[in-house]
Amino acid sequence: MSLGYPIDLHTHSLRSDGALEPADLVARAAARGVRIQALADHDTLAGVAEAVAAGERLGVRVIAATELNTESEWGDAHILGYFLDPADAALEGRLRWLREHRGRRIELMVEKLNALGYSVTLARVMEIAQGGSLGRPHLAQALFEAGHVPTYDSAFASLIAKDAPAYVSRIGLTPLEAVDLIVAHGGVPSLAHPFTVVRLDELMPLIVAAGLVGIEAYYGAHPPEMTAMCLSLARRYALVPTGGSDFHGRGEHGAPLGGVFVPPETVDALEARRRRDPATTMALSVEGES
Ligand SMILES: [Zn+2]
Ligand SMILES: [Zn+2]
Repeated sequence: MSLGYPIDLHTHSLRSDGALEPADLVARAAARGVRIQALADHDTLAGVAEAVAAGERLGVRVIAATELNTESEWGDAHILGYFLDPADAALEGRLRWLREHRGRRIELMVEKLNALGYSVTLARVMEIAQGGSLGRPHLAQALFEAGHVPTYDSAFASLIAKDAPAYVSRIGLTPLEAVDLIVAHGGVPSLAHPFTVVRLDELMPLIVAAGLVGIEAYYGAHPPEMTAMCLSLARRYALVPTGGSDFHGRGEHGAPLGGVFVPPETVDALEARRRRDPATTMALSVEGES
C-alpha cells in the first residue's frame, strides 16, 4: 500500500535539522511509496552515502542534494542544489564554511536568549543536533524541553523567528552566490518555496541569469494559486518546476514524506539541464583534438 507520491525532491535528515537518521528517513519514504528521493540537508552532503545505501536496499533512487539558505535584501531565498558530488573536496570546503557560520549564529542566539532570561546551553543544543549542521529547529527543541515555550512550534514565533527577540541574521551567501556555487560544482539549482522571497519579481531575472534551473512549484504549504504562480514563472523563465515535502520530522515543519505530487518527468528534465563542469569540458575538448 502506498500512501504518498513516488517522487520527493526535498527532504531533511539528522545530518542537518531533520529528526531521522538518513537510512531511517529513506526507509520511511520507501514505506510510503517514494521511489525517487532527494536528500537535501542544509549545507551538507554528509548523509548522502548512508541514504544511497539504504535506497539501494529498498528500491529508492536517492539524489545527492543540499539546501543553501540565504538572507538578503530580496528576503529569504533557499536554493536547492541537485546532483552534487559528496566526494567533491572543494565543494565540501565551502559547505564547511557555511556550517561554521550556522554554528556561530546559533551560539549568538543562545547568548541572546540567556540575556532575555531563557536559560538554554549551546552544549544541549549541540547534543540535540547529534553532529548535524546546526539550525533553529535544534534551538526550538531545547527551548521546548526546558519548558520555556508550550510547544516546539511556538518557540519560533515567540522567540527565534525573524523579528522575534532572540533572532540573529544569517551570515553566508547571497542567493546569486548560492546558485553560482551549485552550478560551479556540476549541480542543478532550484529555488525552494519561492514565497519566502519578498521581492521575488526583482530577484527572478537576476537569479535566472546566474544559472537557476528549477523552481519549487509543488510544495505542501502552497495553495493552488501559489503553485499556478510558480508554474507561470517557470514558463516565463524556462525553468523546470520541482517539488517536495520539505519533511523534517519535527513539529509542523513540512509535509509528510511523498506528500506532495511531483510530475514524473521532473528528474529527467533537471538532469537534461545539468551542465558539464568546466574542467571536464576542457579535458574532453583536448582529447578530441589529439
Ligand atoms: Zn527551506
Ligand atoms: Zn528544506
